[in-house]
Amino acid sequence: MREETLTRALNRYDQSPHLVFWETTKACSLACRHCRASAQLDALPGELSTQEGFALIDQIADMPGPSPILVFTGGDCFARADLARLIGYARSRGLRLGIAPSVTDRLTREALEEMYALGVRSVSISLDGANPESHDTLRGIPGHFDKTIETLHMMRDLGFRLQVNTTVMKHNAREMAEIFSLLRETGVSIWEVFFLVGVGRGIQILEVDPADAEDICHFLVDATSYGMTVRTVEAPFFRRVQAEREPFGAEDPRSHFELGELYGALREGLGREEGSNDRPIRSTTLATGDGRGIIFVGFDGEVHASGFLPIALGNVKSESLGDIYTANPLLTTIRSGQFIGECGRCDYRRLCGGSRARAFARSGEVLGDDPSCIRTRVARRIALPLA
Ligand code: SF4
Repeated sequence: MREETLTRALNRYDQSPHLVFWETTKACSLACRHCRASAQLDALPGELSTQEGFALIDQIADMPGPSPILVFTGGDCFARADLARLIGYARSRGLRLGIAPSVTDRLTREALEEMYALGVRSVSISLDGANPESHDTLRGIPGHFDKTIETLHMMRDLGFRLQVNTTVMKHNAREMAEIFSLLRETGVSIWEVFFLVGVGRGIQILEVDPADAEDICHFLVDATSYGMTVRTVEAPFFRRVQAEREPFGAEDPRSHFELGELYGALREGLGREEGSNDRPIRSTTLATGDGRGIIFVGFDGEVHASGFLPIALGNVKSESLGDIYTANPLLTTIRSGQFIGECGRCDYRRLCGGSRARAFARSGEVLGDDPSCIRTRVARRIALPLA
């Protein structure tokens, strides 16, 4: 990203976020092993009421500058009986919307048609494996993989813009090329890859190590050359990898960077599934991160820099989201890039800034190093250009 474009984007994020995630409920009929929200079958006490939801939508619509995109998430947003009313109100206030439902029996064609009629065009669902064994084991529901693929086809036929979220972990890292190919076949336009942070039920499952995270980021850069938008969540160092790769265009990065066996396997898988490709890689995505362009409102109105960062910054029941976002001292510190350790010294701290959620989960220091970035390792194998 060019310096002036980056500065403009970051200045804009001082005034208002680009994305607001609203965890409309904790209720969900799934019990995925890696669930950030530790979702429950039933809604928890204190969930924002319909009227409080309307008030939150007003707060978002009244923020200065271009209105943020509001994403209805959960739990399962379809577990809220008033979802259509909330969406209708948000549309009446001119907000751009996305929904991120769980794939359950509630996600019917009729329910999706209603969303489309209300003006929703963007839906994201999760797929965490390239085959039923892998995905269903994580979700704990036999047949869930097939249902997810079927749902993607249905949503595509209804005209939605499809986003798939994949949480990358040790157990599925080697399936990433096959997952990518499956998404291309299904007409998905955005692939958002979550790098697990050990919170909620996710604490029970192993995160990928920094060397593997670096290999996966290089693979994801390769994947952008096939025309799909690829983004990461809680791995902003993907943007560093994109920037480091830019001067070398479509060249094999192993000529310039020290990469591991996982990268080789994923690159080979990509070639096998999709054919070779010398089209240019896509450039850097928005320089958003926890509390910088992104804000999360919990089921009870508590505001967090990210759904993976359990530090409460205020509550929309008593303060406006805009005031919390612009004035909270932690958020202003994050946006000014005043980090501790390697992230604080890093040339990429404005473009990347590290996962604040992972820094906090690992060390309790929210401004500390993101331990999944290879640059933050003391005995690290830096993926810098080879001598
Ligand atoms: S050291 Fe920190 S700021 Fe630099 S690339 Fe790694 S995570 Fe990003």
